[in-house]
Parts: sequence; structure tokens; C-alpha cells
Amino acid sequence: MKIVLATHNPHKLKELLAILPRKCTSGVIEYITLAALEKFKLPEETGATLEENAALKALAAAKAFGLPALADDTGLEVDALNGAPGVHTARYAGEHADSDDNNRKLLYELEGTLLPQRTASFRTVACLATPQGNTYLFEGSVSGHIGFGYSGENGFGYDPVFIVQACKKTMAELSAAQKNKISHRARAFEKVADFLETFVE
Ligand code: IMP
Repeated sequence: MKIVLATHNPHKLKELLAILPRKCTSGVIEYITLAALEKFKLPEETGATLEENAALKALAAAKAFGLPALADDTGLEVDALNGAPGVHTARYAGEHADSDDNNRKLLYELEGTLLPQRTASFRTVACLATPQGNTYLFEGSVSGHIGFGYSGENGFGYDPVFIVQACKKTMAELSAAQKNKISHRARAFEKVADFLETFVE
């Protein structure tokens, strides 16, 4: 079975390749990256929810490649900010913002907020789409706090400011293997892996 991994983000791609199974009961699974179809670009994330964004990316890739495709959309949901940045996580500090801009804005918005009120969670919605237009959604999340500054060199995005509740370290202080055991993405894609056991298109 061939499955397209519908992401342009090299960090995500690396995590997905570490998390996803290479075999299922119906045989070997081969993962195809977007680099295989040079002209293909994922659509803008115009959905109102993580579910819509994951589905629109997975469906576009499934149609373009004529193969089942997997995509995910991730949101950081901060309780003191009423769930923001949520679906706007990628563009929190503006359309062309990078991770550093987003993290700085987040720390600024939380200035004066004490640790017990800095609770947050990462939520990933993964979508498996087929070229025929079927979609299957899977969710994973991890709870934690937003720190008062950056800590750790690993990971990407908001990892240096997100302290994982279960281990009291930022995601960026975890090794790739540790992150891939407990992360929101790992939890969503473990469900995908279970589903792939029975999925035959
Ligand atoms: P998207 O899922 O690619 O739209 O990502 C949304 C935003 O969340 C981007 O700013 C990413 O950098 C950030 N992000 C996604 N996954 C992670 C993660 O595993 N750790 C930290 N930040 C993430």
C-alpha cells in the first residue's frame, strides 16, 4: 500500500516517518512525500477548524496523487486566551510570522499570567483521505503549561515554550524519540496506525 504524507514541513515529515508503521496486515506500507510531485502545493488552510484544515490538505493530496493521503493540522489551545491561538496557531503573529514571532507573541499575551493559569494543550487532528473523497479523522492531544521563556533546542514551532505536564520539561527538551512517544501528533497517528490495520482501498 502507498500513502502520501501531505506536509511541506520537514520537521513534521520526520516525526511522521518515525511514528507511522511500515507494515500492516495487508502488507508493506510505502510512504510517498510531496517532493514526488514537484508542482503540487498544499491548499491554504482556510478551514474554520483543525478538522476542516486536515481534511482539505489530505483530500487535495489524495486527488493529485491518486493515492490515499495523510495530513494533520495542529493547534495550541491556551486556556487563559480562551483557546487561542487554536486554528490560527501557524499564523498567530501574522501571515508571514515564523515560530520565533509566534512564540514571542504568545509570551507577550501571557505576561502577568501566573503559572497555574498558563494551562494549555496541543491538539492534532490527522486525516486520512482517499482519491474517491472519503475522509477519516483521528485526534490526539497533550496537556501542559506555557513557560515564561524558551527552553530546549529540539523539536520545532512552539516546542520551546510548551511544558509537558507529565514530565515537567518543554517539548524542546525532549529527544525526538521521547517526543514521539507522548506527543499530540504521536497520539493521533497511533490511532491512524490502528486504523491502517483494517484499511484496504
Ligand atoms: P500546522 O499543523 O502545520 O498548521 O501547524 C500549526 C502551527 O503549530 C505551526 O506554527 C507549527 O509550527 C506549530 N506546530 C505544529 N506541530 C507542532 C509541534 O509538534 N510542536 C510545536 N509546534 C507545532
